[in-house]
Amino acid sequence: MTLIIDGKQIASDIKQELAEKARILLAERGIRPGLGLLLIGDNPASQVYVRSKAKACEELGYHSVTITKSSEITEKEVLDIVQGVNHDPAIHGILVQLPLPKHISEQKVLLAIDPRKDVDGFHPMNTGRLVAGLPCFAPCTPAGIMEMILRSKIETKGKHAFVGGRSTIVGKPIANMLYQKAEGANAIVTIAHTAAHDLAFFTRQADILVAAVGVPQVITGDMVKDGVVVIDVGINRIADASAKSGSRLVGDVDYASVFLKARAITPVPGGVGPMTIAMLMHNTYRSASGEISW
Ligand code: NAP
Repeated sequence: MTLIIDGKQIASDIKQELAEKARILLAERGIRPGLGLLLIGDNPASQVYVRSKAKACEELGYHSVTITKSSEITEKEVLDIVQGVNHDPAIHGILVQLPLPKHISEQKVLLAIDPRKDVDGFHPMNTGRLVAGLPCFAPCTPAGIMEMILRSKIETKGKHAFVGGRSTIVGKPIANMLYQKAEGANAIVTIAHTAAHDLAFFTRQADILVAAVGVPQVITGDMVKDGVVVIDVGINRIADASAKSGSRLVGDVDYASVFLKARAITPVPGGVGPMTIAMLMHNTYRSASGEISW
């Protein structure tokens, strides 16, 4: 029988555990985890993301501050805000909601964040530490994938893990995490991207398949072997005349055909998606409690 890895349930369990840990941290050490959210411009999707992150803080008993600025703000002003939050002792994690307006360099802004407060895990210092296998903040989506694998008791040691996609936020970090000599990792990893002319040649060898290509339902049942564990990161909206809204969300994997061969699979929605905010909360707690030795 195929195990459906329920990301919604796992994320909810993690948040519940964190709420309890945060309660203890406050009671025993007087520290309330604090997250600073910086939202620039009026991108509706960014507004929704920032609101849901602030709401998660509230649910977990964290402190959060949302700084909202118009897209007219200068790069220098953004950098000054980041410096201010870097020095705010009540804030343990900083999240700059991307994308930024075109006249502001994302690279410069992300570099300005104190790596010890970089709970999104995008600062090159954290990237480097991740590759080196040192304690760090891992980007939230791949960190969520690793947590799902661990909590679902998926064997990874010596298994062939295939990662489709090499983005900085998903593909590269998850590949680096999967091969580390650590519990829930220690896999043999293949990474593929658009230069792969026969994707199926690689996917058919996978014991664990992570799809993060951003192409709807591109991985089909005939491209995987029996017993594969499938982590579908893709979130793609496709037209669907039978849906009330006229569209629906699908992953990068063709769920119906891959499900028949998989030992375990994450659904879309309700798989990897909910894990991202849970791991942001996890990183913020780790920063507040000082459990990373830099
Ligand atoms: P991205 O930056 O667009 O990167 C896509 C990667 O896939 C690139 O490396 C690209 O190769 C590769 N690729 C594209 N088409 C391919 C194909 N046909 N065969 C092989 N490789 C192909 O995307 P991303 O930000 O990593 O996101 C990937 C998906 O995950 C998207 O659907 C996104 O919405 C979703 N996502 C979900 C979450 C979440 O659940 N919380 C978070 C982030 C992203 P090249 O490098 O050669 O261009």
